[in-house]
Amino acid sequence: MWGSLMGDFRGIPSPVCPACGGNLLNITASFNYETYEIDMYLLDNATCAECNALITAPTPADIIQ
Ligand SMILES: [Zn+2]
Repeated sequence: MWGSLMGDFRGIPSPVCPACGGNLLNITASFNYETYEIDMYLLDNATCAECNALITAPTPADIIQ
């Protein structure tokens, strides 16, 4: 990355940060109150936990075969 600029990689769903390769993402999620599992999560406001780059969170439908 360049200085303190954050990358903006939204639009390309990725399970890892395109900027630093980190695999910890900050996402906005809601949880099912019966199973406590993640019910849904927002795709367009994920950020990298390492470098704060803006990322589009992946879904299983985004897997490229
Ligand atoms: Zn990153």
